[in-house]
Amino acid sequence: MLVDLHTHTTASDGALTPAELLELVREAGVELWSVTDHDTVAAYAELEAAGGVHLVAGVELSAVWAGRGVHIVGLNVALESADLHEALHRQQSARERRAVMITERLQRRGLNVDLDAIRREAGADSIGRPHFARALVATGQVKDVKTAFQKYLGAGKTGDIKTEWPELDEAVLAIRAAGGTAVLAHPAKYRLTRSRLRCLADDFKAAGGDAIELVCGPQEQGLAGRLVELAKDFGFSVSLGSDFHAPLPWSRPGVEAAEVRDCTPVWDQW
Ligand code: AMP
Ligand code: MN
Ligand code: MN
Ligand code: MN
Repeated sequence: MLVDLHTHTTASDGALTPAELLELVREAGVELWSVTDHDTVAAYAELEAAGGVHLVAGVELSAVWAGRGVHIVGLNVALESADLHEALHRQQSARERRAVMITERLQRRGLNVDLDAIRREAGADSIGRPHFARALVATGQVKDVKTAFQKYLGAGKTGDIKTEWPELDEAVLAIRAAGGTAVLAHPAKYRLTRSRLRCLADDFKAAGGDAIELVCGPQEQGLAGRLVELAKDFGFSVSLGSDFHAPLPWSRPGVEAAEVRDCTPVWDQW
């Protein structure tokens, strides 16, 4: 069975609309699927009938832990939850404040950034760093998105603003309040040492975190094995996803369910 519990649409920074992604997910043969856009569940308004695919409501919340940006995926959330809606409203306000701050920071670096143009381009979709990256490419100020992140927007760079995000435990609480399963997204992408990652896992567990992602897109061989150990040590169940953003040669939806190895899959509890 193919599952994919981490994907993005145009409602956040993905390239495909919810309907286009549904089509691709169906073609790929994914049986259990979640759209986990950054800080929004807007895609679900267009996905009521996902015929043939079991769709689990999800979201990827931005949060901060020990001064670092971290992502918490919420799965099987109640879309009608007032707590969830309040939390997402706060996330969107944070994104808006942050967009203004990113604009100021980039302008101070001598870059030409037109926030109104970026807003028009994003339309109703929530603004994130990828939108700034694409604008810098479109205006010829950097050669590609990768360079935009390397120079200006990536971790620790001038446009990487985390001060507006809630703390880890607040994000976990919002997911739990909506009856969801809180999953620590891509644990290896925070560039933490082994012992710092265990600190994060400890705090996540204490906050009410349920699971970690064992597979999140293409990843180094051996990583899943290390994450299995982490999951077992902390009693986490495990999730699998592609973190799909756009159809690229190295990125397609679907992960083989057997990747959960000898851990408990998150979907067992739903
Ligand atoms: P934000 O949600 O505004 O914090 O932006 C984070 C998003 O930017 C991530 O979810 C990725 O989709 C994207 N991203 C992060 N780092 C890079 C990178 N180095 N190159 C391209 N995209 C990136
Ligand atoms: Mn993204
Ligand atoms: Mn993420
Ligand atoms: Mn993601």
